[in-house]
Amino acid sequence: MPNDAALPLTDIFSRFMGHVHIPWIGECWLWAGAKMKDGYGNFKANGKYVRAHRFAYEHFNGPIQPGMEVCHSCDNPLCVNPKHLFQATHTDNMRDCISKSRHRHGERHSGAKLNADSVRTIRSWYADSINGERPTLKYVADIFGVCQQTVLNVINRKVWAHVA
Ligand SMILES: [Zn+2]
Repeated sequence: MPNDAALPLTDIFSRFMGHVHIPWIGECWLWAGAKMKDGYGNFKANGKYVRAHRFAYEHFNGPIQPGMEVCHSCDNPLCVNPKHLFQATHTDNMRDCISKSRHRHGERHSGAKLNADSVRTIRSWYADSINGERPTLKYVADIFGVCQQTVLNVINRKVWAHVA
């Protein structure tokens, strides 16, 4: 990934980044703009709508090969952090989703929509006090589709205590 100085700061890119919330470098960059029904970010570039994570992938990482999908290693559809994005075939993607849903199904905790990775992500947001900025409980709850009390329980280790 190029450093900031190497980035061509075109108007379209500035506009894109205006919709991105970057709480802490290295963690998820959360899309705060329009969303598609499927949960992905929606961005209008050159007169047509594209999924925000695909735009981010192409801008930072390079062209997407024909027929390839852009997947999230962090499993957060609203994330546009290029380091969390990778290309995979549709079949790979489906297989990934199936194994993840099976995995989730087996985890019987309060907040079944969470997994070990999202728990670590949430805790890192609250542990790290860079700039003193922290997302609200509601914001985090909305992203992961859980209630605010669950987010609080995750932070206070009342649930998912076994996740380091
Ligand atoms: Zn991410």
